Amino acid sequence: MTAGPSLLDAAPQQRPTQLGLGPWAYDRGEFVAATAPRLPLSTQGLHYGTAVFEGIRAYRSEHGLQLFRAREHYERLLRGCRILRITGIPSTAQELIDITVELLRRNAHEGDVYVRPVAHKLSLLPGTPPGVSLAGVSDALSLTTFGYPTSSGAAEVRCALSAWRRPSSDALPVQAKTAGGYVTSALACDEARAAGYDDAILLDRWGNVAEASTANVFVVRDGVLVTPPASGDLLPGITRDTVITLCRETGTTVLERTLSPADLYTADEVFLTSTGKGVASVVELSGRAIGSGTTGPVAARVAALYHTATTARGGDVGHPEWLLTVTPSEPLPHPSSTPSEGTNR
Ligand code: PMP
Repeated sequence: MTAGPSLLDAAPQQRPTQLGLGPWAYDRGEFVAATAPRLPLSTQGLHYGTAVFEGIRAYRSEHGLQLFRAREHYERLLRGCRILRITGIPSTAQELIDITVELLRRNAHEGDVYVRPVAHKLSLLPGTPPGVSLAGVSDALSLTTFGYPTSSGAAEVRCALSAWRRPSSDALPVQAKTAGGYVTSALACDEARAAGYDDAILLDRWGNVAEASTANVFVVRDGVLVTPPASGDLLPGITRDTVITLCRETGTTVLERTLSPADLYTADEVFLTSTGKGVASVVELSGRAIGSGTTGPVAARVAALYHTATTARGGDVGHPEWLLTVTPSEPLPHPSSTPSEGTNR
């Protein structure tokens, strides 16, 4: 059966700005039509997973479009670049923020936006022998943006405890968002969905709770929040940090300690945090209801706190440094989608 045309295949002129891919992308130093870039089939990041990426949100509110914690996302991306020896891209968080702001202005999405930067290994430099390597391989950076609405409350998700374990940090730099590392996330998520669940929670090599496929895990017991320590085999999420900070500032105790599967099954509440999901309440785990089987009061309050922090006027929640307003520019004509000479490198 042939699939119908997807939203992302539509010509730039036909593509809506509220949902789907923005018409402009940033690719290796240029702003181009999002459909124009063509990477060589030999792209190393594709063959070996030698890429790092980010997911960054810009939220639209009465205060306009605001990027949320872009600096921390780009600092994490740049730490990942150091691990993968990716040096041939803009090297400061500020430069990457400036590119992002320009791209958001060009794409003029009407609602909330998801920004996807990817830095990756590209092509063997002259004199580098073929094979899996980091040194002697050129680098590339691209950014695309997508219209991606968010909700103010906690979504409810049903999770399965996965048979796949989170790789340990002596096998994979788990604290960087390496593309290759997402094979485990994809396998775990696919396994959970095939069994009728929404997402997977993965254990680490010791059998302790690591994280969900693309989110961090929190447990609520007697009003106290507990989450596995950032030094464990997990990606220390920026949403996790935001939630810990906001909860502590508003008088909720947050502990960072190891959690067992039994801690999840016996919790009053379990919730997930990520840039993509915000705060999502886990109402069921592998066939057992968590707490009352619906979103609990603590998850609801944390989701509301998070929503306020992402849509406030800079400074209203005491963290003006988290929000960056994207001031709109004059509308630009839509880009030509013809691949330009020089993008096919
Ligand atoms: N863990 C993994 C494996 C993830 O992919 C993500 C999403 N980036 C998270 C945790 C949550 O991180 P953040 O809050 O920074 O989005």
